[in-house]
Amino acid sequence: DQVILVIDDDDLTLKTLGLLLEDLATVETAMSGREALEKLGSMTPDLIILDVDMPQMDGYEFCDQLKADEQWREIPVAFLTARTTNKDEERGLDAGAIDFIRKPVSPKILTARTSNILELQAAKRNLLRLATTDSLTGAFNRRHFYEAGHAEYKRSQRYGHVLTLLMLDVDHFKSVNDIHGHAVGDDALKATVTAIHNVLRTEDVLGRLGGEEFAVMLPETPLEGAMDVGERIRKAISEIVVETPTSPLSFTISIGASQVIPDDKDIDGALSRADKALYAAKEGGRNRVAAA
Ligand code: GH3
Ligand code: MG
Ligand code: MG
Repeated sequence: DQVILVIDDDDLTLKTLGLLLEDLATVETAMSGREALEKLGSMTPDLIILDVDMPQMDGYEFCDQLKADEQWREIPVAFLTARTTNKDEERGLDAGAIDFIRKPVSPKILTARTSNILELQAAKRNLLRLATTDSLTGAFNRRHFYEAGHAEYKRSQRYGHVLTLLMLDVDHFKSVNDIHGHAVGDDALKATVTAIHNVLRTEDVLGRLGGEEFAVMLPETPLEGAMDVGERIRKAISEIVVETPTSPLSFTISIGASQVIPDDKDIDGALSRADKALYAAKEGGRNRVAAA
């Protein structure tokens, strides 16, 4: 379900818009820019409908602030205002707004434009999901993992946070396919991703690098913490039971962990150290976690 955040200092406008838009989306309201910023801390609306003239922070200022923030930049903003000159509209579009709607509001114009924007936004989200995720498991794909990894690396450098990486590889997966067939192998990979996601926090990033190889990025997590996460993943995977036409399937995973160090210029070094540790975990007997 899509969400619209309406920001207006006038109570009656909020009520009217709530009624006009309730069939299109869930409508959240805020009476000031400050209240809206607070709400944005815990939600990401699909559209913001914004008044211009409000006390303290006006709509233009609010929009400028939104568009300057990486986290909120992509949220479309439509102004809804009693201002009617081209100058006003130009200022709104300059601030990055997608639309500029005039008060007094025509219900038809408002709902038509709103549903156009919502449709566009849904299509954009869908494209983004298709481009960034692996269709079998729903984990991020290799390219997106590296992009997210690069962004997280820069963030960790800027704020002086530790960053660790795990490399994971399902054990003896070739024989899983050989014994149970490719379809059961696919089920095992899906169950693997579900189990890993259940262990991770929302800020952690899981990518499927290829085949039965995965990587996890753990922001603000030192190596000991990462080993802990790795151990919980290892255990969770060992407890998976996949139903098959014959005997139920259990399997294990091996994991290597490495922390980004000051000499690293990107995440590649840590990934290749984690990969070496993974190799050591395999050599050591599999179904285990090793640190670089
Ligand atoms: P090791 O314990 O050393 O990792 O052994 P392994 O058999 O897991 O390693 P190997 O890399 O030789 O085999 C990986 C297998 O994963 C081979 C390939 O057929 C299978 N595989 C890769 N991608 C998929 C997939 O999308 N679905 C299924 N079912 N199998 C896949
Ligand atoms: Mg393997
Ligand atoms: Mg492999």
